[in-house]
Amino acid sequence: MSLFDVMKNAGMKIPATEAERDELVITEVSTGFWTYHLSRRRNILRGLCGAPTMPTALPLRAWGVPGDESLPKDKRPVYCQKCANIAWPEGQPDLSGMD
Ligand SMILES: [Zn+2]
Repeated sequence: MSLFDVMKNAGMKIPATEAERDELVITEVSTGFWTYHLSRRRNILRGLCGAPTMPTALPLRAWGVPGDESLPKDKRPVYCQKCANIAWPEGQPDLSGMD
């Protein structure tokens, strides 16, 4: 299966332009479901921090949203601070309008 097949199966659009290939997306580690990283769309199988990742269908605005308080601590999502620092060296922008 090609990378684009993986993306299609995950409901992701295939990048067509340079800007789209550079777009940030939320990815998750392949060894667990609850640690999220940031990747460029051109290389969604690698986080910005270098971790091997899998695509998710999460919109970028979901980044940093805390898990439900009722969930046990190890079931709440964790967001990779390294990726965030690389993606946004000036600090995380307002993502609420992004998808
Ligand atoms: Zn990371």
